[in-house]
Amino acid sequence: MEPYFTTVFGNPSSRSHSYGMEAEDAVLGAREAIGSLIHCRPKEVIFTSGATEANNLALFGAYHAGRDKGNHVVTCVTEHKAVLDPCERLEKQGARVTRLPVSPTGMIDLDALEAALTDDTILVSLMAANNEIGVLHPMQAIGSLTRARGILFHTDATQAVGKIPVDVEEAGIDLLSMSGHKMYGPKGVGALYVRRRSPRVRLEPMIWGGGQERGFRSGTLNVTGIVGLGEACRIAALEMKAEGERLAVLRDRLADRIFSELDEVVRNGDREHSLPHNLNVSFRYVDGESLLMDMEHVAVSPGSACSSGAHEPSFVLKALGLDDDLARSSIRFGLGRFTTDEEIAFAADRVIETVKRLRRFSPLYPGREAIQ
Ligand SMILES: *Cc1c(COP(=O)(O)O)cnc(C)c1O
Repeated sequence: MEPYFTTVFGNPSSRSHSYGMEAEDAVLGAREAIGSLIHCRPKEVIFTSGATEANNLALFGAYHAGRDKGNHVVTCVTEHKAVLDPCERLEKQGARVTRLPVSPTGMIDLDALEAALTDDTILVSLMAANNEIGVLHPMQAIGSLTRARGILFHTDATQAVGKIPVDVEEAGIDLLSMSGHKMYGPKGVGALYVRRRSPRVRLEPMIWGGGQERGFRSGTLNVTGIVGLGEACRIAALEMKAEGERLAVLRDRLADRIFSELDEVVRNGDREHSLPHNLNVSFRYVDGESLLMDMEHVAVSPGSACSSGAHEPSFVLKALGLDDDLARSSIRFGLGRFTTDEEIAFAADRVIETVKRLRRFSPLYPGREAIQ
């Protein structure tokens, strides 16, 4: 990214001189890197400030452009707030929104999805991978249901892109949101894939101006951020497969340690359909916040970074059927490219020792006598 802050400073929209053309080449390189990662054409990539903006553009844009066809939108209760909040707003603007429930492991029911689709349905928005529990929704099956009915399919794939294979052609995805900082790229940059052919997706822009990004998102491009996102995609395409396999082994090792050395623990999310680097566990009789505070040198989170300030139990875990207490006793472990074997052993030690210590003071914990 560095040269694009200093020596290559042109505006990619200024095609009349070499400074601009150099910047435009860099942006094109990033489009191509994204295109080869998610199997789309470079022109189908619309750069945004992140996945929140991409989701907003997809939802409001598709809704307002498709308003002549209907007003029904289908989504799911475990989506990210950056989908759920726009949907709430759409309701105020006259939309009818169906929020599909999930099974105790966090999966949607395809029959329920099919039953929800009507002649009025213009958009289905279902995430590729959940940010708290790592559960994967069946993209291809959803895409074939929407495709057969001429309904647009948007997916918030922020947690999936660069981690697991995502193919917009194969899955019949029409709109896809992604974000730089969820895949080792910079913060403040993301993209929305907007299908150009069969069907050509129509979107009402949210930001109007100079007509950049096919008119869907006006404003001078964030060249440095875009270069960073492109490079993150290029590296992900090379390393994603081996990395996923390595992280699944480490994740399972961490889970095995926790589940063999502690009782009263629950693993949240579907075991089979899940991101390789995510582990979400509830430790009964332990408050998640206390666990975080007491555990030094381990960086884990109580749920979503976006709502963890609120001290509310996770709405995602509650949607799986967990009660408030159990949801509050949950921790999300996120492994990544730089996580080592030693760190997993260290984290397992700290978690196990801290949970045991906290339970000594928990009057309700049935095994309390044994560990006094
Ligand atoms: C992080 C995240 C977002 C928001 O992305 P930003 O780029 O921070 O706006 C949206 N959806 C999911 C699933 C996420 O994990």
